[in-house]
Amino acid sequence: MIRFDNVTFQYEKADTPALSDINLEIREGEFVAIVGHNGSGKSTLAKHVNGLLLPTQGGVTVCGMQTSNEDDILKIRQKVGQYIIASPAEITGNGAPYRQKVGMAFQNPDNQLVTTVVEEDVAFGPENLGVQPSEIRERVDEALASVGMTAFAQFAVHHLSGGQKQRIAIAGILALKPQILVLDEATAMLDPSGRSELLETVKKLHEEGMTVLMVTQYMEETTGCDRIIVMKGGKVVLDGSPADVFTHTDILTASNLIPPEPVIVRDALRTMGYTLSDRVLTAEQLAEELCPSL
Ligand code: ADP
Ligand code: MG
Repeated sequence: MIRFDNVTFQYEKADTPALSDINLEIREGEFVAIVGHNGSGKSTLAKHVNGLLLPTQGGVTVCGMQTSNEDDILKIRQKVGQYIIASPAEITGNGAPYRQKVGMAFQNPDNQLVTTVVEEDVAFGPENLGVQPSEIRERVDEALASVGMTAFAQFAVHHLSGGQKQRIAIAGILALKPQILVLDEATAMLDPSGRSELLETVKKLHEEGMTVLMVTQYMEETTGCDRIIVMKGGKVVLDGSPADVFTHTDILTASNLIPPEPVIVRDALRTMGYTLSDRVLTAEQLAEELCPSL
């Protein structure tokens, strides 16, 4: 569904590439976490998926289309949940009809919500794509249900918590019917309960078949993913299942990453002689293996 072939990317005026020779394949329906220290290239990689950035060398293919192909880029952005929004000036007026706007979920939900009422916000993307009003209604209802926010349809956006706003931002993306959801540290500004609410929402979308690419700084958010990609200095240094990735403590440490606490405890217990499997990644799994009879 997404393929990176020998992708190198260098920002203008930068001395070193932000991405170096990345080769990746992400299959339909996969739930992939991307982790790495600040500046390791996570956001740069995410922005290549929707063609917001184009490789300096190599190519990115999304649903069979090259991001470097201008004729395909609007379709690609729609498929990855990026929408094209006309600014108010452009709606009323003159000149180019569209201005690009990222609908990928980013850190700050306040920058992603554009209207004052929840359901209007969710409808905004499809309205701008020219979707029929009756279908917009259906899509909005469905998207709000998906993120568990149906009861808030008529609420004022500014009355919502950070976690609720982020879920509305995601509903706005879902209303575009994307095949891929890209989240770039979408939980970073949220409190722990907002974070877990959002993570549950994303897991549910994945279970319903959506391909999810989730950049996160919270390692404990990655244990339920199908796959973790670890980045360092613009390169992929680990790529595997959570059980596999968290056996490579040395590479994680060298990448300035700290495994989730249950994994640290697991490893410490192993050095004390306990037999624990690589599948132990959460506190619940740790308890289960230590006390199977509980
Ligand atoms: P991450 O999301 O993992 O923190 P980024 O993809 O944002 O990393 O950045 C990767 C590298 O590219 C860093 O060295 C960063 O300083 C650099 N970089 C990011 N954005 C720009 C930009 N707009 N111009 C120049 N360099 C940039
Ligand atoms: Mg980033």
